[in-house]
Amino acid sequence: MSQYQDQVVLITGASGGLGREAALQFGQNGAKLALSDINADALEATCAELRDAGIEVFSRVCDVTDETQVNNFVNGAYEHYGRLDAAVNNAGIDPAHNLLADIPLDDYNRTMDINVKGVFLCMKAQIPLMQAQGGGAICNISSVAGVGAAPNMSVYAASKHAVLGLTKSAAHEYGKCKIRVNAVCPFITRTPMLDQSLELVPPGQREAMEKQLGKSAALKRIAEPAEVVTAILFACDKTNSFMTGHELMVDGGMSAL
Ligand code: NAP
Repeated sequence: MSQYQDQVVLITGASGGLGREAALQFGQNGAKLALSDINADALEATCAELRDAGIEVFSRVCDVTDETQVNNFVNGAYEHYGRLDAAVNNAGIDPAHNLLADIPLDDYNRTMDINVKGVFLCMKAQIPLMQAQGGGAICNISSVAGVGAAPNMSVYAASKHAVLGLTKSAAHEYGKCKIRVNAVCPFITRTPMLDQSLELVPPGQREAMEKQLGKSAALKRIAEPAEVVTAILFACDKTNSFMTGHELMVDGGMSAL
């Protein structure tokens, strides 16, 4: 039997780089999926691809900063499938890189809204459902910038530190209800988010830039989405039953130094 056979797994930001790969890996391992994204066309394309691969998908367009939309998505998925085994709160943004004093307040507000309030609202909707069914697993996506400094990305770093605060506190609040809450902290990963932050790099210099970015990892390269998603599946796996409140670094060894 596959690792996630007939389990219901919810993913936000499911048509982005990590979200789409997570949907694919959970689906290939037997999960029934509940997917959302703010981008309706990209979500539709992702769902079509997964259904073509024989994977069962429920989907809703959902902006994670909007409590009504989050509740409609999470409750809709629960009503559709009758349970919620795992939730991956993955939707997030990385605003334009700047020194702290040069960051516009609008960027701060948008980043905190999506990266922190979004995770809070999703957990707030997911936890009562998991409590009622007797347990579940939540995996929030933080970052290596959630555990250390990130020059030129201070607001992103603050938002990802906050994700760990929510994760660890909820793990202690709901451990007695058999809800495990963990966070995965990826290093720089090859997704559309990275493309966006490198959009000013001339195409001929992209490879050299990626090499440069990978230098702080022991493995001397950036991560591929599939490598990060392996850790997300591990965090949500029912057999991984004693891991909670954990920040799982998927950083190619960067933090070992
Ligand atoms: P991505 O490719 O940009 O995917 C993020 C997805 O979230 C996109 O589909 C995006 O839609 C969606 N989204 C944005 N705002 C949203 C909102 N308000 N409500 C719902 N969905 C929204 O990024 P990724 O690299 O896969 O990142 C996934 C997670 O990993 C993020 O939390 C990110 O911070 C974290 N992470 C990424 C890296 C990295 O290097 N890639 C490293 C560490 C951590 P649009 O495309 O329409 O905006």
